[in-house]
Amino acid sequence: DARVAGKVAIVTGAGAGIGRETALVLARHGANVAIFDLTEADGQETVRLIEAEGNVARFWKVNVAVESEVKAATDAVVTAFGKLDILVNNAGVTGVDKPTHEITEAEWDAVFAVDVKGVFFSTKHAVPHLQKNGGGAIVNLSSIYGLIGSHELTPYHAAKGAVTLMSKQDAVVYGRDNIRVNSVHPGTILTPLVKELGSRGEGGLEAYLKLMGAKHPIGHLGEPIDVANAILFLVSDEARFITGAALTVDGGYTAV
Ligand code: NAD
Repeated sequence: DARVAGKVAIVTGAGAGIGRETALVLARHGANVAIFDLTEADGQETVRLIEAEGNVARFWKVNVAVESEVKAATDAVVTAFGKLDILVNNAGVTGVDKPTHEITEAEWDAVFAVDVKGVFFSTKHAVPHLQKNGGGAIVNLSSIYGLIGSHELTPYHAAKGAVTLMSKQDAVVYGRDNIRVNSVHPGTILTPLVKELGSRGEGGLEAYLKLMGAKHPIGHLGEPIDVANAILFLVSDEARFITGAALTVDGGYTAV
């Protein structure tokens, strides 16, 4: 059941969580996967996990917030694997949990540098290769927090809201190039990011997980594989007429 057989995919932030699971799933379905991450040891561990399943991956140390690094690594992927078909813009940070009137410019910029400019740089330098390839698919990780408000993480909401519209805009602009662009909006998914976030609160991680689970109509949190399977569908040819879509993977969170 190789749904992306022979494709070449870049997954940013694939050293952990949703990105790692997505890289594993794409490789399992026949893609050669380029792992981009800030943290070398984590990225190399993802490669090891993929190779242990008999599949193909390679690591590039990339900070998606630095344009020169993104361009060099993206070009190197095409040199190594011969082409590019798929980009999953997954790298992201949550940043400070403060209301607008308490946020410093540096705190704001730190979130936008990764979550917004990172998607811009990665898309910018992938598109010429996708055009040369005759088309491709991009999935951007937004969030339920890119669709609705909450009491948390103000700069993150603004950044993920930007990602929602960047996806629709690029879907329109690159439609005639046969490049499909969709966004995915996870609810709370049990990853290192969420464990760190949950541990900040008063009752600790356990209280946070119970509280967040109850907020999802389905009654519990999601797992990285739930998001990875949605991404696999969107980048596969089964989704060939789907572009500019915002797919929630949230256990009904935004349906309430
Ligand atoms: P995570 O923190 O568990 O993993 C993120 C990975 O990205 C890490 O390996 C990290 O090293 C890497 N990374 C961070 N900054 C980077 C940079 N500048 N350049 C390259 N790599 C970088 O995160 P996660 O929970 O798996 O989330 C992945 C994506 O999904 C993020 O965009 C996040 O906002 C989004 N998301 C997550 C959830 C959730 O509940 N976990 C919900 C909605 C959306």
